[in-house]
Amino acid sequence: MCGIEPESIVDGPGFRFVIFVQGCPHHCHGCHNPESWSFDAGYDISVEEVFEQIKAGEGLRGVTFSGGEPFEQVPALLELAKLVKGAGLTLMSYSGYTLDELESRHDPETDELLSMLDILVDGRYDEKLRNLTLIYCGSENQRVIDMRKTRKARVEGDHGMVVPYKSDYDIDIVI
Ligand code: SF4
Repeated sequence: MCGIEPESIVDGPGFRFVIFVQGCPHHCHGCHNPESWSFDAGYDISVEEVFEQIKAGEGLRGVTFSGGEPFEQVPALLELAKLVKGAGLTLMSYSGYTLDELESRHDPETDELLSMLDILVDGRYDEKLRNLTLIYCGSENQRVIDMRKTRKARVEGDHGMVVPYKSDYDIDIVI
């Protein structure tokens, strides 16, 4: 573990408990969290202990896995994801891997974790494509994916379809 932010309003919709895992193989130029890169740093914490902290949070809408690279720690995060979803919270994850790269692992645990996500922000940070107006991501190549709608679209036959997440604030205002 690299760190925990128990009340964030910038890492996804609503109040969120954010877990910054330790270790990232991507080493994106301009990364805001380079101290999370080393797989030998950070501290150990059990899934149960993290979940106890989540349960103690008030008014949380969900949990966000950030990093570091969450998809380098799939078994532990899958265990936590089941507890989080069981508690009725939403689940979002960042990954430097694209959804296509994660799916092409053909790893049952990776697939199961993906199946539990409400939102996935995918792709490595590209400083040349930096855009400060983007919501929940930093560069234009990254995608904020509505995983629930994506799964539904794919079941209905749109294989390979990716539905972008539409922010709660992306609404028409009539004055
Ligand atoms: S994937 Fe994220 S944590 Fe990893 S180097 Fe890139 S920006 Fe940093």
